Amino acid sequence: MRPKLGDVRSQRCKTRTGNAQWWLRALLALNGMWVVDLFLLGGEAGALTGPHGLVLALGRLTGLGGALALVLQLVLIARVPWLERRLGMDRLTSWHRWTGTWVLWLVLAHVVLIVVGYAEQDRSPVLSEFGSLLFETQDLLLAAAGTGLLVVVGATSARAIRRRMRYETWHFLHLGAYLVVLLGFLHQVTIGNDFVGSPIGRAYWWTLYGAALGAVLVFRFLLPLWRTARHDTRVLAVVPESPDVVSVHIGGRRLDRLPARAGQFFRWRFLAKGLWAQAHPYSLSAMPDGRTLRITVKALGDGSAAVRNLRVGTRVLATGPYGAFTAEQRTRSGVLLIGGGVGVTPIRALLEEISQTCQDVVVLYRVRDQRDAVLVSELQWLAHRAGARLHVVIGPATAIGPHGPIMGPQHLAALVPGLRHRDVFLCGPPGMTDAVLGALRALGVPRAQCHTERFAFAV
Ligand SMILES: Cc1cc2nc3c(=O)[nH]c(=O)nc-3n(C[C@H](O)[C@H](O)[C@H](O)COP(=O)(O)OP(=O)(O)OC[C@H]3O[C@@H](n4cnc5c(N)ncnc54)[C@H](O)[C@@H]3O)c2cc1C
Repeated sequence: MRPKLGDVRSQRCKTRTGNAQWWLRALLALNGMWVVDLFLLGGEAGALTGPHGLVLALGRLTGLGGALALVLQLVLIARVPWLERRLGMDRLTSWHRWTGTWVLWLVLAHVVLIVVGYAEQDRSPVLSEFGSLLFETQDLLLAAAGTGLLVVVGATSARAIRRRMRYETWHFLHLGAYLVVLLGFLHQVTIGNDFVGSPIGRAYWWTLYGAALGAVLVFRFLLPLWRTARHDTRVLAVVPESPDVVSVHIGGRRLDRLPARAGQFFRWRFLAKGLWAQAHPYSLSAMPDGRTLRITVKALGDGSAAVRNLRVGTRVLATGPYGAFTAEQRTRSGVLLIGGGVGVTPIRALLEEISQTCQDVVVLYRVRDQRDAVLVSELQWLAHRAGARLHVVIGPATAIGPHGPIMGPQHLAALVPGLRHRDVFLCGPPGMTDAVLGALRALGVPRAQCHTERFAFAV
């Protein structure tokens, strides 16, 4: 029996995301085995039989585990295009965050176990052992500074604290993590039992850290700089869409060479007074046509409000494209696009691209008030051109929820025929996104068919 179109696409999509996850897991498992091997070759297995050997051996193992998790963290935020396109920045950032918790606890466990282990071995009080280790062991003071910095980075990334900080302040402190990596690495290769006496162990560790830091350098710094020089992107026009929303049209050289797709986003840094120090993520609000790019920005704070005052000709430093919220994720022939508030921006771009090949598209645009609706005439025109159905759903935020009258299971089922057989692309405020995902699950739409873009990274 021939497979259906939907099944074939489903297979391909699962393969893309699944492949990337498989490779990441395989690399982690392989390196985990290497690290255990290093630990055993470093004589730790033998030490287990000695007095207090278990505590010290565990101390070393947690140290190695923390250092390996730190490398994984670097890879996850290195913006490797291959991973970005398959897994999306929101997923990678949330894994980065999760791994960060492990790094913190493993490093703290390493410090406590090593100090307690040596204190027991030397029969001295824990505090005085800590003091003598700190001041009498090579490079340990630097490692302690690194651990202190790690605690600051970890604490300021805790949700309760992070939410109270300005993004820029948090980001500045978070950059301290690179210093943590450097200090930790120096500490490992200069006094780590597993490296000092083992040239192979040292070579492996240098290669591992070199590859991870190299990826960060290439993909976060060199590639964006090269693209900026190559494309020379500048503001072409700033067009008001509503009292608090503007579209910015951006032009440049050879934009057809930029591998951007509808649904993706860039981090935009406008080289204008008061703005050059901030880089904000904004999705493309139109499908890239090879000549111009367009973003549509709602004023939510200082940075986004200032976009309205940009002058024509302002240079733009754009890093990206990022995100897996693209038509490549499609698994079915029918599509439902749902945008909430300014979350309509990637939806508008996706409608433009998907409607060129797909005959069965439904678009839901959810706003609280008619005045909040932007890009409506474009949506209407695109929907008309493609024979797609467009519903602008207006109502207060309180009406949303699993049992609310708006976007609940009954409402969705009434608006969208054949819901279970569609891919759903959903972008909106977090509350709405969660409520709609709940409604879709209640209606039996498989998880693999629901694709989301959140306008906030995991905090
Ligand atoms: C993937 C993605 C795509 C987005 N696309 C759009 C879009 O198309 N149109 C649109 O209007 N908005 C979009 N946003 C939201 C937009 O990035 C924020 O509204 C903007 O950064 C707010 O900055 P601010 O200085 O005006 O406000 P602030 O008051 O400083 O911040 C408001 C919120 O935005 C977050 N934020 C601020 N700066 C950054 C940053 N540099 N990186 C990440 N988060 C930040 C803060 O943590 C806070 O939650 C998107 C966000 C993400 C993550």
